[in-house]
Amino acid sequence: MFDSTAFIEKAKRELEAIKQNFKEDDLAYLLFSGYFINSQKTAMEKIAAFVNALSTYKNFKNYLIEFYFQKTEKLRLTACYGITLNQNVKYIGISADSQGLLASVLGKQGWKEEDEPAKKDKKRAKLLTELKMKKSIYFSISSIGVLAISKTNKSDFSADEKIFVHNFIKMNLQPSLALALENETNIERAITDQMTTLYNHTFFKIRLKEEATNLQREVGRPLSLVMIDIDYFKHYNDKNGHPKGDIVIKEIAKTLKKQTRTSDVVARYGGEEFAILMPNTHLADATSKAEAIRRAVYDLKFDNEKSQPNKKITISLGVANIPMNALTPESLLERADKALYFSKENGKNKVTIYSTSIEAIKKINQK
Ligand code: GH3
Ligand code: MG
Ligand code: MG
Repeated sequence: MFDSTAFIEKAKRELEAIKQNFKEDDLAYLLFSGYFINSQKTAMEKIAAFVNALSTYKNFKNYLIEFYFQKTEKLRLTACYGITLNQNVKYIGISADSQGLLASVLGKQGWKEEDEPAKKDKKRAKLLTELKMKKSIYFSISSIGVLAISKTNKSDFSADEKIFVHNFIKMNLQPSLALALENETNIERAITDQMTTLYNHTFFKIRLKEEATNLQREVGRPLSLVMIDIDYFKHYNDKNGHPKGDIVIKEIAKTLKKQTRTSDVVARYGGEEFAILMPNTHLADATSKAEAIRRAVYDLKFDNEKSQPNKKITISLGVANIPMNALTPESLLERADKALYFSKENGKNKVTIYSTSIEAIKKINQK
């Protein structure tokens, strides 16, 4: 049961503690910027909002503020205040050396003040020299990232400034950012195929529906779909074992990713089947992309592939397009699939574009 009396008493005690730690102006500022950061949806937006908020306050207007965010394996400069547009283009995205100063601060309590940026973070050292920065202070945002604040004179940051930033991070940024990151990780997990890191079947189906809905709004925009299936894959598994088969699936997945644009949705459709949704792509472009993919997979080398019926690991592909040969997401999928099976039935290792003659040929063969 929620006990409101106890809750109010606890809140009063916490409020007293907060009042003792903060000046009134700081408190009002923290409250307001807290709302601002919380109202941002993604982790990246929260980081940008935090840097933005900090850069408007008191002396911080005159400082260089850098936020290094560890999204994958490296700390990268994600948001920055106090640099020119040209420097922004040049420096945003630079990574910290794993043995450097920034990395050494990550996960540490409190703060660290330094006169010189560590030489290992070469690009950053260059930026700080360019900007004539003489003193920096570093704060870790748990194990999520590192905030660096620098100024052009050698004097220490004041105790008020240090405590203010420390509390700003602890109260306003860290909890909100950690929650956003956890949500983003969960979503990513739910839509990713673990083995290949491509999108999974569920996400592919969602995007197919979404893209088709977009088309209804923007009539005339093309949407292409390429369906792919590995040839004689059961044969390869039987000859070489499942683990070797898994390597083939992973390598082909990598090739698909390499051959496509970031706007394309590359998915593992099933066991040894893939689907590539290409928004805003005409049939001719999707077909030449499919042919390039077929060729790239043909050029890959795999253990013992000589024993395959094709003497190589190969793939078969089928292409369909809205509006050229389908009008709904269901028929786009069905027709790309029919085109793929036409490739299968006609020697494999080839690309087929859907056309009504595929159906006609099928009927003749069935007779
Ligand atoms: P076709 O040329 O007509 O496509 O023949 P195929 O042997 O490739 O197709 P079939 O559907 O007969 O067999 C597909 C095989 O893919 C069977 C299944 O064991 C294998 N497979 C599916 N998922 C995985 C996987 O994750 N790892 C491995 N190693 N094999 C898988
Ligand atoms: Mg199959
Ligand atoms: Mg197959």
